[in-house]
Amino acid sequence: MAAIIDGKAIAKDIRTELKEEIDAMKAAGTTPGLAVVIVGDDPASHTYVNSKEKSSKEIGIYSEVHRFPADFTEEALLEKVDELNRDKNIHGILVQLPLPKHISEDKVIDAISPEKDVDGFHPVNVGKMVIGKDSFYSCTPYGIMKMLEKEHISLEGKHVVVIGRSNIVGKPAALLSLMNNATVTICHSRTKDLAAITRQADVVIAAVGIPNYVTADHLKPGAVVIDVGINRNEEGKLCGDVDFNSAKEVAGAITPVPGGVGPMTITMLLYNTVKSAKAFAAK
Ligand code: NDP
Repeated sequence: MAAIIDGKAIAKDIRTELKEEIDAMKAAGTTPGLAVVIVGDDPASHTYVNSKEKSSKEIGIYSEVHRFPADFTEEALLEKVDELNRDKNIHGILVQLPLPKHISEDKVIDAISPEKDVDGFHPVNVGKMVIGKDSFYSCTPYGIMKMLEKEHISLEGKHVVVIGRSNIVGKPAALLSLMNNATVTICHSRTKDLAAITRQADVVIAAVGIPNYVTADHLKPGAVVIDVGINRNEEGKLCGDVDFNSAKEVAGAITPVPGGVGPMTITMLLYNTVKSAKAFAAK
């Protein structure tokens, strides 16, 4: 029976540490500031943004949310980003994705100053990560690394199999694992005999987007299983990419959904905002 990795508790500990750091920064004259921009009325995106605003405020980050209607133009959005790039009270800028179809996400991400790109999506930050330099790392995979670190699970010399190759989860999870000296395999929708590969893994990171895709049959006994998925099953209940009930019988440690990777993602956004504010304060 696997140990359950409590992402919620780990996230809470990190947020407490961050709050102490922010209190000290405020005493020294700097308040970390985060600006979130949202365009359109996608309910899930609004829920995420509200949660980011609430979490920021809870630990003392100055937070502003800029909400625009679905017909907001690309030009106006780029102007807003430019204004925030120059705003001295703002250290982190996040544009909530997805954006309406008439706006190019690439153009908008490129317009965010890499120094304020706390989501870690700007090509400059992605490039730095690829060459093993410090930068803002994408919050979900970075949260996974922090979670493993806090659980004293070292990736050094381990075989990490990442399922999924998206730019925001799969690819950066693979690169950060590599940075932590793991041997890394990336699987995706064209991978042949995926279970034979995942059965060789010491650590499986599942970022597929298919409910209960990874089962006990995919796992080596004792493997660490990180479930990134946020899906709804047929009954509309929240579930991950891993069939938790069967996997926990084989795995050595496993993250639940909810309460695993999810709480770490926003925590790393706050972490990156504080990191950015510290870098600006040191200039
Ligand atoms: P994407 O849809 O962008 O990527 C999914 C990846 O899974 C793709 O690389 C795809 O391969 C691969 N894939 C699809 N089907 C299969 C299959 N049958 N076998 C193997 N690989 C397959 O999703 P994201 O990376 O954005 O998100 C993944 C999951 O994580 C989702 O459930 C999402 O909701 C969740 N998520 C959770 C977050 C959190 O905070 N916990 C944050 C972000 C995402 P290919 O490239 O070949 O198409």
